[in-house]
Amino acid sequence: MQFRDLHAQYEALKPEIDAGIARVIDSTAFILGKPVGELEEKLAAYAGRKHCVCVANGTEALQLSLMAMDVGPGDAVFTSDFTYFASAGCASIIGATPVLVDIDLATFNMSPAALERAIKKTIADGKLRPRVIIPVDLFGLPADYPEIEKIAQKYGLAILEDAAQGFGGRIGGRIACSFGDMSATSFFPAKPLGCYGDGGAIFTDDACVDARLRSLRASGKSPEDKYDNREIGMNSRLDTLQAAILLPKLKAFAEYELDAVNRAAARYTAALKEKVVTPTVPDGCLSSWAQYTILLESREKRDAVQKALREKGIPTMVYYPRGLHQQAAYKAMALRDEDYPNTVEATRRVLSLPIHPYLKEDEQDGVINSLLEVLA
Ligand SMILES: *Cc1c(COP(=O)(O)O)cnc(C)c1O
Repeated sequence: MQFRDLHAQYEALKPEIDAGIARVIDSTAFILGKPVGELEEKLAAYAGRKHCVCVANGTEALQLSLMAMDVGPGDAVFTSDFTYFASAGCASIIGATPVLVDIDLATFNMSPAALERAIKKTIADGKLRPRVIIPVDLFGLPADYPEIEKIAQKYGLAILEDAAQGFGGRIGGRIACSFGDMSATSFFPAKPLGCYGDGGAIFTDDACVDARLRSLRASGKSPEDKYDNREIGMNSRLDTLQAAILLPKLKAFAEYELDAVNRAAARYTAALKEKVVTPTVPDGCLSSWAQYTILLESREKRDAVQKALREKGIPTMVYYPRGLHQQAAYKAMALRDEDYPNTVEATRRVLSLPIHPYLKEDEQDGVINSLLEVLA
């Protein structure tokens, strides 16, 4: 069994994917060819945003978004402590300062109460200008935007949604990549919507921001004259081949994959909820299940369960073994475990089970039965 079986998806979509790749090779428009524009339109429509700009990866989608907000040295960017490094690294790399926020253990997402405490402390310290909140839709579940929006408004901060794991998630009628002022997602192969290499996208409703992003992803060129650069940008474009691969994948995602992965998650939860802490999906929310993550009672138990499952041929992962406040890159900030109790707790107890839209019911049962045996 594979943790995320990308080959099963390829088998299902092979004719369309192969034909798309062949058309790109035939056209030789390898960079920003027609399929990229077509994908941008379809992604914007899916998310209900006015504009989408495809870029080279999710990390640069976040970085370019901050650049388009003119964030830089002296600015504070608030993000979750329990996430992939890029959620904070995108701020550091442009000279801004990430301010890490503890999570809610039930959802693994940024705690709105901890966020407000971090903002107040930053204001009281008086060293940084609070500018942007980057909530992360961890494991596929949208962050608590209704609460985070109130806080953003109260303190005059922008919101940049890190939807790298969140594509397809919902809160009521609102969908991931539509929350906040801007949203960034990733098409890394194992994400809910993945390509066959690196890729990412940025979403905005603002036509000026859209135009600025199109310039920033092409070294800051001016729209009129590509050899006249109006500002310092990056080379961060999505390959046409990746767009051609993503077009049929987006269709499958919308038509049936999101439903299929939710059926798998529901079967896991029904079978496991009496024995372990299963993921919480708050009322009215939908997860796209980038990960299905349970909590065991301790680090020792988690490590033992992972080892026993491995021996039964069931692959699992620990997302994440460290909080960002514990990363060597942030050692100079001298952040303390006692300020991040829920992150620390999560790093000790989490275990992610195999999940993807093509995981068959008998494979799901294999995971469930193996885990129940190991626990008993
Ligand atoms: C994967 C990921 C990113 C970065 O995306 P890449 O395409 O790998 O650069 C950013 N934030 C989160 C939460 C992620 O999971």
